[in-house]
Amino acid sequence: MSIAGNLEHLQQQIHEACRRANRSDSEVALMAVSKVHPVEVILEAYAAGQRLFGENRVQEFQEKSQHLAALNDAEFHLIGPLQSNKTTRAAELFQAIDAVDSLKIAQRLDAAAKALGKKLPILVEVKLSHEESKHGLDPAELPALLAAMEPLESVEAVGLMTVPPWSEDAELARPYFRDLRKLRDQSLTSFPKLTQLSMGMSNDFQVAIEEGSTCVRVGTALFGKRIVASAG
Ligand SMILES: *Cc1c(COP(=O)(O)O)cnc(C)c1O
Repeated sequence: MSIAGNLEHLQQQIHEACRRANRSDSEVALMAVSKVHPVEVILEAYAAGQRLFGENRVQEFQEKSQHLAALNDAEFHLIGPLQSNKTTRAAELFQAIDAVDSLKIAQRLDAAAKALGKKLPILVEVKLSHEESKHGLDPAELPALLAAMEPLESVEAVGLMTVPPWSEDAELARPYFRDLRKLRDQSLTSFPKLTQLSMGMSNDFQVAIEEGSTCVRVGTALFGKRIVASAG
């Protein structure tokens, strides 16, 4: 299958999930997750009409971005964890940062965005499972983080993001998607800008759409399996 063919198939699946959930297709963005893949797949997806992309490493995207200057209407979001020594680079390279989980990172991004004269939309990554390895903010700390971010002028929290524990069975992700939506709905009264819900990946995006996702992050189903070269 070609990338263009996969894209068309995904859009059809998104359409059907929206119909089941009584939602309009325009409420759900498809983000193409191009991490690990070479820059050629980004160019191919772009040629097929894709404009929204997700990358998870600052360094990797910095190298790719040198070959992407011509795609000036494409949007690239950072969807992976961000170390504080890479916030300046991240603010330069990306149109939005979708996995912020601490005030320290938000403040650093704010300073970097201010220096660039740009306003950076941010999603707060929330950790809803008890897995040791996962990044993300404890949901109990969300109101305090959002309140502390309010005075920051160059970053704006526009939504929440989560990565549930991986499973073959998409239904096992449903409670996590439901929890994220609940958290967003509870926060909306005090933080009306917090509208977006980035949730759902290749194996569970239809369930995520049924639970209110506004952005599904799809890698494998669009670009195929990621082959990670082993070190050494
Ligand atoms: C890699 C990645 C994805 C895409 O995962 P697939 O299962 O390949 O669709 C989505 N979100 C995040 C945060 C990722 O790191």
